[in-house]
Amino acid sequence: MNAELLNRLRKEVETERENLLAELEQLGADPYSEKVSRIAGIDDNFADSAAATAERSEQLAFIEGARDRLAEADVALARMDSGEYGVCADCGQEIPTARLEARPLSILCVNCAAKRS
Ligand SMILES: [Zn+2]
Repeated sequence: MNAELLNRLRKEVETERENLLAELEQLGADPYSEKVSRIAGIDDNFADSAAATAERSEQLAFIEGARDRLAEADVALARMDSGEYGVCADCGQEIPTARLEARPLSILCVNCAAKRS
């Protein structure tokens, strides 16, 4: 992978990571643990109401998704540092540039990603 492409993708992953951290912070969620100190916008007095419960579980699902993507971003950045980025973490084949450009967090080729999900 050429340095220019790597730099561009690194910036995208870093931006994504910062956005995720900001979103999690806004929701009162610790980005690296299960702890949710508070859920913004939900009044404790209404914590038992069905609407609040539904909204809360929606937010928790969002937080989980954001944490997953954050973990992926961390792994992608670590692989950029170690020079492994762009090579599938499972089968060792090169990941096509088009896939990396479409989804810079990818550490798996399309085939291995399909197998895992
Ligand atoms: Zn693979």
